[in-house]
Amino acid sequence: MESLTLTKEQLQKMISHVDSCAPLEACGLLAGLNSKVETVLEVTNQAQSEVRYVMDPIEQLNAFEWIESNGLDLIGIFHSHPTGPETVSPTDIAQAAYAVVYVILSRVDNDWRARSFWIKDGAFSEVVLQVI
Ligand SMILES: [Zn+2]
Repeated sequence: MESLTLTKEQLQKMISHVDSCAPLEACGLLAGLNSKVETVLEVTNQAQSEVRYVMDPIEQLNAFEWIESNGLDLIGIFHSHPTGPETVSPTDIAQAAYAVVYVILSRVDNDWRARSFWIKDGAFSEVVLQVI
């Protein structure tokens, strides 16, 4: 996937979620079709950690079922880096289990920035994030 398209409202929903959880990392799923996000699904970070995230397995399962029953696909996973970095961490690469776009929201000078990446075979490349 070379780009991911989402609305300003969807981006704001992700930012509100991760901001409310900071300084802990927060996470969630992006449901959509092709490369267009339709729904942002917040998931509790079971790890309750400032440096890593583990999606609550029950919430994740419920979200997967919701996505399927609504005829959508899992196209992205987002999580925050409340204290950076702006890019993927070695942990993110090691944990990337799905062939989806990984959106990272990082906090820089009290502002949240969003970047998206494709992670495969231990390497990553940036994906264009189109906010419409
Ligand atoms: Zn990360």
